[in-house]
Amino acid sequence: MPKVVAENCVACGACADVCPESAITVDDVAVIDSGKCVDCGACIDECPSEAIEN
Ligand code: SF4
Ligand code: SF4
Repeated sequence: MPKVVAENCVACGACADVCPESAITVDDVAVIDSGKCVDCGACIDECPSEAIEN
C-alpha cells in the first residue's frame, strides 16, 4: 500500500488522475482509500514531488 508523504505533496492531482481505481482524492493533500487501492504503483511513478512511497 502506497503512503502519502504529506509534507512533499503539492496537491497537483496527477496521482488521482492516473489511479485506475479512483482510490485517491486530493483536497489540501492526496489521500489514498486503502479499500480501493490495488497497489499497482502508478501513483508513485506519476507523482512529480516524490510524495508517494511504498
Ligand atoms: S497504487 Fe494504484 S490503485 Fe493504489 S492509489 Fe496508487 S494508482 Fe491507485
Ligand atoms: S501526484 Fe504527488 S504532489 Fe501531486 S497530488 Fe499526488 S501525491 Fe500530491
